[in-house]
Amino acid sequence: MRKRIIVAGSGGAGLTAAIAAAKKGAEVLLLSKTSCATGSCTAYSGGMFSLASGSVTPEEHFKKVIEVGRSAGDPELVRTLSEHCEASLRTLSDWGITMKIGEGRAHVRASAPSEIMGGAGMTGELCALARAEGVKILENCAATRILSAGGRVEGLEWVDWKTGREWRSWASAVILATGGGGAIYSRTDNPYRMTGDGYAMALEAGLDLADMEYVQFYPLGWKDPAFPVWMVGLTAMDYIPVTDGKGREFLKEAILSWGLSSGKEANYFARDRCASFLARHEKDGGKIYLHIEKLADDMLSLPDLRVSLMVDLPPRRRVRPVEVSPIQHYFTGGVPIDSEGRTRLPGLYACGEVTAG
Ligand SMILES: Cc1cc2nc3c(=O)[nH]c(=O)nc-3n(C[C@H](O)[C@H](O)[C@H](O)COP(=O)(O)OP(=O)(O)OC[C@H]3O[C@@H](n4cnc5c(N)ncnc54)[C@H](O)[C@@H]3O)c2cc1C
Repeated sequence: MRKRIIVAGSGGAGLTAAIAAAKKGAEVLLLSKTSCATGSCTAYSGGMFSLASGSVTPEEHFKKVIEVGRSAGDPELVRTLSEHCEASLRTLSDWGITMKIGEGRAHVRASAPSEIMGGAGMTGELCALARAEGVKILENCAATRILSAGGRVEGLEWVDWKTGREWRSWASAVILATGGGGAIYSRTDNPYRMTGDGYAMALEAGLDLADMEYVQFYPLGWKDPAFPVWMVGLTAMDYIPVTDGKGREFLKEAILSWGLSSGKEANYFARDRCASFLARHEKDGGKIYLHIEKLADDMLSLPDLRVSLMVDLPPRRRVRPVEVSPIQHYFTGGVPIDSEGRTRLPGLYACGEVTAG
């Protein structure tokens, strides 16, 4: 008999898990609270990954992740990530997902429909593949409760938002891939349906959550009402100044004093440090400005700047500095798993941002 598996969530984690299960012969039901291809952080993302590939060895990657995470990361899970990330991306590539893997970096931006949604090409391709593999996808249907009996998962309770009807579906395994909870913050670059449902369901099922106090705020996000509530890549400050109200490049001074050479480096290795530095500055009454008025026309085609700014900046929009401020970006804590994605509740698995580690 075919195994029945239910996946909650249609970001990169849920879609990949659903396809992998279907390819192994399981009957897969995927519930998504949003539209499958566009309503996730994966779709909204820059679509760029850091990994062990080329001359970057798994050991170097492992050490860097542990160092940047100030040893708070789970060494077993980080080791799994470092050792398997390239093979996992190559599997996606073998499945036909548009992917470019280089030296310690990979991206899926070549299929992106626009600069601002770098991962949406990939989620579109994954959705199409999931359907082709026979995954039954129900959009705008939200998982509400994990069903269990005798200490084992039995299925999932969910609601169809269109009809308002509540359903129960039964399965031998449930995979939670509901992402983070950015939308509980007033300033976030996450889609507004990211309300941490997976955390609530896991808690209700009797599981503990880990490291929920570790919430990543991206250091720069547009604050000016004429711009979207969205992150601005730290690399932008390598091209145009980020200043305080007096015109001083105080963030750059801080980054250099920490032994880092650029905003680009800080983007990889010091986001939390930059965000708390800027938050303290604001708490003391300071403002933060991004000097887009200093952008010359020919700078707008620089790839690093395009990826960092993500919005169109015609001359009429580049007349004055605009205010920026830290913005909620990513939940680091969540449902504890082992390196196979198993939670403490037999039959319940979790992957992606909903997990801790
Ligand atoms: C603006 C932005 C840029 C980013 N850029 C990068 C980057 O360049 N590189 C990088 O590595 N990371 C980046 N990240 C982080 C990364 O995108 C996310 O951590 C990752 O995509 C999470 O994937 P996921 O599949 O776990 O969750 P998501 O992609 O968020 O998907 C969660 C899914 O769960 C569904 N869902 C939620 N609740 C329920 C429910 N109750 N029932 C059913 N479905 C539910 C949602 O509809 C959604 O489909 C970025 C994030 C943002 C917001």
